[in-house]
Amino acid sequence: MGKPDFWKNSKRYYDLKSYWRNRFGCTVHKLQIDAGFTCPNRDGRVAMGGCIYCDGRGSKLRQSGALPCVADQIASGKKYYKPSASKFVAYFQTFTNTYAPVEKLKALYDEALVQEDVIGLSVGTRPDCLPPEVIDLLAGYAKKYHVWVELGLQSAFDRTLDFINRGHNFAQFARAVEALEGRGLNLCVHVILGLPGESDEDVRVTAKTLAALPVNGIKIHSLLALDGTKLGEMYKQGAIPMITKEKYASLVVDILELLPSEMVIQRLTADGYRDILLAPAWAKNKLDVLNTIHKELDKRNTYQGRRC
Ligand code: SF4
Repeated sequence: MGKPDFWKNSKRYYDLKSYWRNRFGCTVHKLQIDAGFTCPNRDGRVAMGGCIYCDGRGSKLRQSGALPCVADQIASGKKYYKPSASKFVAYFQTFTNTYAPVEKLKALYDEALVQEDVIGLSVGTRPDCLPPEVIDLLAGYAKKYHVWVELGLQSAFDRTLDFINRGHNFAQFARAVEALEGRGLNLCVHVILGLPGESDEDVRVTAKTLAALPVNGIKIHSLLALDGTKLGEMYKQGAIPMITKEKYASLVVDILELLPSEMVIQRLTADGYRDILLAPAWAKNKLDVLNTIHKELDKRNTYQGRRC
């Protein structure tokens, strides 16, 4: 299989920037919003302490004091971009962004969508935090706006989900995907590579599993050991080996080959956390990581979807 024409890009995968341009004919930026949510996997409703790698501090904005309202966060996010050339998607990013009564969610999402040039929402959440009334709310927006739901999964293996204390299993994820299907929503799934106890084949099985589901986008990053997290402590004690940059790039390319060519690649490496990153050190240089992945794609002369 060759490179699909519909990507209209110079890459060997369907990146988010190209997707936005093809779909809306202009540049689209995601504006990160911290609306003050918490997470049921941190506050005891599902589990205490959260996923073992989770930075419990929340966004930089939250760390710096009282959170501005959603409208103000959008206004300050927009300042970085050329107003005439851009549209925006309000990205409710920090912790679990459907973890509140539906009336409160509606007020927050409405506040984002009435802002000028905001064409849609992207809502980061957990598979066990999507009750029917929340899916109905999001599906209602999808009739008029461009809406993504971003679901953390990380691995298709329950033994891994247990180890990282996700607080849900794969069956719960699959049920959430089923409930979202056919509602006009775009689904993006988050996956982590380099998880303890996972073989290369496990990673490829996770990719194949997602390829067989109605998943429209994916975010991939390597496991990061952050100071102040349980994983960070385990790393300091020498209990957690970290993936090398070369192995990471090779596995990313394996995954890209297995995913459908229509699936939008929203992220190929992690961003941020520089202040508390313990390992792997190479993850600090995002450009270098991307270059390594691109070189591996070139070396294999391969594309996203080639082995799908
Ligand atoms: S689900 Fe997300 S926000 Fe909640 S503990 Fe895990 S990583 Fe943190």
